[in-house]
Amino acid sequence: MLMQMGVTWMPDNDAHDSLLGSTARWMANVRAMESQREDRLFNDPWAALLASEDGDGWVKDNLSDNGTSMIVRTRYFDDFLQRVAVEYKITQVVLVAAGLDTRAFRFPWPEHMDFFELDQPQVLLYKEQILSAAGAQATCNRHTIAVDLTSTWTEVLVTAGFDPGKTSIWLLEGFLPYLSNGTIAQIFDDITSLAIPGSWVGFDIINSHVLTSQWTHQWIEALAKAGVPWQGTMDDPQSFLAQRGWEASLAQPGDAEANFGRWPYPVLSNDIPNMPHNWYVTAYKK
Ligand code: SAM
Repeated sequence: MLMQMGVTWMPDNDAHDSLLGSTARWMANVRAMESQREDRLFNDPWAALLASEDGDGWVKDNLSDNGTSMIVRTRYFDDFLQRVAVEYKITQVVLVAAGLDTRAFRFPWPEHMDFFELDQPQVLLYKEQILSAAGAQATCNRHTIAVDLTSTWTEVLVTAGFDPGKTSIWLLEGFLPYLSNGTIAQIFDDITSLAIPGSWVGFDIINSHVLTSQWTHQWIEALAKAGVPWQGTMDDPQSFLAQRGWEASLAQPGDAEANFGRWPYPVLSNDIPNMPHNWYVTAYKK
């Protein structure tokens, strides 16, 4: 059991669920480190409070890139959410597996914006306690919804106020690789059932070579050792989404639109066969 600002991080009865919750705190650790930099790509003033006491050590020991891929990803999806909300006048955002994401507080959202945050109950409770103790004020109508995303959740979201008759933006960040491919397909079927044409979705996903490549094995083994193995992949995200009525674009960290002057590594072309890829996918519903 860990303490932060007098708030207790409660492991729940299921050790695996609890470990999955810890991954949200590693993300907060990375965002806290980034927020201290002068040349930061974003500022998350609550990340340090939400981060775990031992997370810095885990992050430093296991992220060979010092979190650069997560930092670039955060900024990429920061820009995506804000651009799409304003450009298409969309007033519903759903953070699927929101974790300790503070975007509902960090940005000046357009008026009448509803923000729905789905995650495990113990993660949302911890976040609520820390943010309210810190006096954080959401800049939109924020709704937190405790669910198991591997089970049924769409009705709960609608009951909480999500309007399936209006366009929406969905974000699944740092989440899908922890799921089986069957669960990923079910989640996208569920999202598709609630997203009318003109809606958008953003997510990051690895291809199957990431699970087996010599370039990525250290990270894959670190996650397995931490009890949160990666398993979910997409080898062709555009076809996967097209089958469900979405038109998708892919970016990789380091591409011109996902670089921000901070990506130090070469980018592997998608045309080279049998290479590991980590894609940022954005798609709109036709
Ligand atoms: N999107 C956030 C971010 O980028 O900081 C959180 C990412 S964190 C790596 C993964 C999140 O998925 C955790 O908050 C965890 O609790 C949540 N999660 C994993 N499995 C879940 C499930 N079955 N139901 C609800 N949430 C789940």
